[in-house]
Amino acid sequence: MRYISKKLFKPLCSNCQKPISVPDGLFCENCFLGLLPLTPPLCIYCAKPITEGSVCGYCMLEKNQIFTGGVSIYEYAATAASMIKKGKYGEIPWIFQRIGIALTDAAGKFNCDYVTGVPVSEETYRKRGFSHTDIISRTISSRDDNLKFISVAKRKHSPPQVSKNRSERKILPLNEFIITSPVPEGKILIVDDVRTTGTTLNTYGNFLKNHGAKELFFLTFARSNLIKR
Ligand SMILES: [Zn+2]
Ligand SMILES: [Zn+2]
Repeated sequence: MRYISKKLFKPLCSNCQKPISVPDGLFCENCFLGLLPLTPPLCIYCAKPITEGSVCGYCMLEKNQIFTGGVSIYEYAATAASMIKKGKYGEIPWIFQRIGIALTDAAGKFNCDYVTGVPVSEETYRKRGFSHTDIISRTISSRDDNLKFISVAKRKHSPPQVSKNRSERKILPLNEFIITSPVPEGKILIVDDVRTTGTTLNTYGNFLKNHGAKELFFLTFARSNLIKR
């Protein structure tokens, strides 16, 4: 795979890229302290932090959940936000390998059969030269024998989404995704770098269910939009 960089194995911090002393570490001490873990309880359907119970008020009203469950690990702030931006806009693919490594343990807990990423648009792929969600999901698969990597769809052009507000993001074209291979039976884990409103994950999850997916879970490194709703 072209994007496998030797830098993965050099002791560099995933965020500031300064040398670190722990050979297999992912972060320097400062950047590690800047990771802000989302503390349970989180809503089992959307990973929003809640004060009690297991389902947030918004998901409680939703009768047809697309995902059986899912989790996000860190707040989209400080180190997590910084490294995702550097990876995407600095076009640094190995940052997403690091994210895949960081997510592998959490990915295993869903007992899924397959792992896949939300496809990036062809335009984004051409610009960056890689699909960050492919890198994350392939990295997880390479480190967990129970999770087979699949790529079953591609995506038409769509603008970057993180900076947009909720109402803008609700509208996604119905034919945003195109199926490229049959969707296998079995549980599928969909991974992404950041969950904002969940519109992209829900749209893609819905699309896969329309193409035969039986049971879906999601996992994202970061979660933003924690206050709205
Ligand atoms: Zn650092
Ligand atoms: Zn929820």
